[in-house]
Amino acid sequence: MKIYINGKFYEKQDAKVSVFDHGLLYGDGVFEGIRSYSRLVFKLREHIDRLFESAHSIMLDVPMTKSQMVRAVVETLKANKLNNAYIRLIVTRGEGDLGLDPRKCRGQATVIIIADNIALYPEKFYKEGLSIITVPTVRNLPEALNPQIKSLNYLNNILAKIEAVNSGCDEAIMLDSLGFVAECTGDNIFIVKKNQLYTPPQCMGTLRGITRDAILEIAKKSRVAVHEHVITRHEVYISDECFLTGTAAEIIPVVRVDGRMIGTGRPGGMTLKLMKKFRELTKKSGVKY
Ligand SMILES: *Cc1c(COP(=O)(O)O)cnc(C)c1O
Repeated sequence: MKIYINGKFYEKQDAKVSVFDHGLLYGDGVFEGIRSYSRLVFKLREHIDRLFESAHSIMLDVPMTKSQMVRAVVETLKANKLNNAYIRLIVTRGEGDLGLDPRKCRGQATVIIIADNIALYPEKFYKEGLSIITVPTVRNLPEALNPQIKSLNYLNNILAKIEAVNSGCDEAIMLDSLGFVAECTGDNIFIVKKNQLYTPPQCMGTLRGITRDAILEIAKKSRVAVHEHVITRHEVYISDECFLTGTAAEIIPVVRVDGRMIGTGRPGGMTLKLMKKFRELTKKSGVKY
């Protein structure tokens, strides 16, 4: 495996950063998870745009241009001879001292690109659906750490994941501070009711996922009515179908929420149709390498 760090490739065992890197010390940095399918990087520009937006928001200078970043991702995929890959792009504040002042990180930001395979959930879950639970830990407040920033500080979501796992569930629904459904720990949430699609808006606690946007695009093209609207837990319970979206998980059906069966208790027709259309889209669009 060849791992990219600041313009050079390293073998996995040699791919290391300083223990003074503020990415490690403080979660001070941003990241993206990207996928490639049959040598096409899906929505690469959208991911790189969002990476730069996250970095801009936390006043982190990415030491390269967007097109250099695109090239670095492509080079990493080629170096690893991967046709289908999960790519993790990381930019940290770099090496500083033990204080949290980012001005002490005098060197440049650390840019890391790892290309590997990932299977987030076993195949069984895609066929049978997930059982998920609403957890007490709410999504970060936008006025504290805006959920639009894909920051390296994922503790909010990890705590929610721990709560779900402690309850014997596969995933967690996180609410926003008003008590509306925000998203899951690394995935956006959708429900289907009377053949219409609903997903929470990107304000408050919901990250505007690129897979989420792709699903909205596919649904609109298929003339399915879509609503970006606040959703309550009650609306999830009485929905006909529920599914989650994210780059790593792709589209995964949900069949049980807080002990309530969703629809028939099997992945629904609209979910399966969208999964198929999404698969088709990944096969025909993307940056070629
Ligand atoms: C990355 C992420 C998602 C999914 O976004 P995609 O762009 O579809 O991968 C959803 N929620 C959170 C909290 C995330 O970090």
